[in-house]
This record gives sequence, structure tokens and C-alpha cells, in this order.
Amino acid sequence: MYCRSCGTQNDDNNYRCIQCGEVIQFLSTPPQTTYRIEEDAGMRMLLPVGRSLWALIAGYFGLFAILIFPAPIALVTGIIAVIDIRRNEKKRGMGRAIFAIVMGFIFSIFFVFSMLGLLADVFNGVE
Ligand SMILES: [Zn+2]
Repeated sequence: MYCRSCGTQNDDNNYRCIQCGEVIQFLSTPPQTTYRIEEDAGMRMLLPVGRSLWALIAGYFGLFAILIFPAPIALVTGIIAVIDIRRNEKKRGMGRAIFAIVMGFIFSIFFVFSMLGLLADVFNGVE
């Protein structure tokens, strides 16, 4: 049988796991260890398998939205990504898309205000 805690295969007569000392529970199949889950998540971050391409693009623009200029692009691509994911249930990346929308929205407001400020300076200042 396999240890519930660490997944090590133990002799059926063992009371405690030879690897980690956990009291063994009866399991017929090896459990998914947290290590494996984290590894998969890590791989998914690096390789966008099954993720909406729009979500990927939106995610990067969301990050760069801090620089204000790409913020409206992040907002637009984020919205496209959400629509794309909604249409295709197999696609992932909703978190990234929403992140892009939020970041894009916040920094778009900054962008608009900075443009208004610039216009105000042009009209009032330079004479
Ligand atoms: Zn164990």
C-alpha cells in the first residue's frame, strides 16, 4: 500500500511509513503528491498548454499596464480573452484575463487623467 502523506510504497504489514513515519492509511493507488501538482502548475506557467492565446497576450499587457501606455491594450485584449475562454470551455487563463482587465482598467484611468492634465497644460500654460 502507499503512504497517504508522501506516496512511498510500504509493506502491507507496516504501521508507519518507512519514509516519513506517517501512520499508513489504506490506499490502493498512489496519491497525487503536492509536489507533483506544483510541478504541473509550474510547467503550465512556462508552457501555455491549453491556455487562450488572448489570455496570454492580455496577461503580458496587464503586467506592462504599470507603464500606463499599454493599459488600454491590456483592457481590450483582456476582454477578448474572456470572450474567447467563455466560447471554448477547454481554454484556461481566465485569471490572467481578469488580471489584465483590472490592471488595464486602473491604468487606463490614469492614462486618461494624464492626457487631460497634458491638454490642460497646453491650453493654460504655454503663452
Ligand atoms: Zn510517507
